[in-house]
Amino acid sequence: MYSYHCHFYPAVVSLRPINGLVEQTVTNTSTRTVLALLDELLEATSTDIELKDFNLLLSTAERDRLLAELHIQYFGDEVVAYPFCSLCDEKYEVRFSLTKFKETSNNDFQSKFDEYVEADQLLDNGTCVFELKSGDCIRLINGADEINLERTSKESAEKYLLENCILEHRSDLPKERLLSLLDDLNPVLDETIQTQCANCCGEQQLQFSTQAYFLEKIMANQPSLNSDIHLIASQYQWSLSEILKLSTVQRHNFVELIVSERG
Ligand SMILES: [Zn+2]
Repeated sequence: MYSYHCHFYPAVVSLRPINGLVEQTVTNTSTRTVLALLDELLEATSTDIELKDFNLLLSTAERDRLLAELHIQYFGDEVVAYPFCSLCDEKYEVRFSLTKFKETSNNDFQSKFDEYVEADQLLDNGTCVFELKSGDCIRLINGADEINLERTSKESAEKYLLENCILEHRSDLPKERLLSLLDDLNPVLDETIQTQCANCCGEQQLQFSTQAYFLEKIMANQPSLNSDIHLIASQYQWSLSEILKLSTVQRHNFVELIVSERG
């Protein structure tokens, strides 16, 4: 079991370990996939909110931080990417720390929070509400909103956000400003990063999404799941479902043991 202390909520979440069964459910990097993954992993929270609702109510920024923590736990802190350089048409290597990436985002959020937010509050129904210094009241965009906003036009999305996330519009701030505050105060770990190509030293921009990176990492490891199952089954004669229920960490440990014993 793994405990995660929420960054934006006064809540602690307990998660089951990832296992082969959960790994197999990841077939793309969509929000629906990540919500299904968290439905499998969420075991308990320190709130009275039903787990299914809690998952849908987690703000996008909070969910990204949870995914970053899971990445650090399962795959380590380092992000390694090989984007194409548009200047020399060669691949170059980018490495950075997920923890530092998160800290930079947290610091940016904190300065925006201090500038605009008067008070924050977690309602009984699990909604996190920000009372702004302007007198307006907003709530952060969450997984349920993301599902509702799938395949909607920009105009319909704005209408939806104004109706659902701007809870009280008391000031004379224009609607556009409140909509941009919804983004500013919901710092997703999905950003354009300035990088330098190692081949031609040209400045390049890399779009990095923690959600996509984490889910792609799980998908990239799926081919080795079959060889792990084959190796463990042939050594211990365990059934497929028994092996799939082993946590990913346990499974890797067994594989290491078998490989080292067989030389
Ligand atoms: Zn280059």
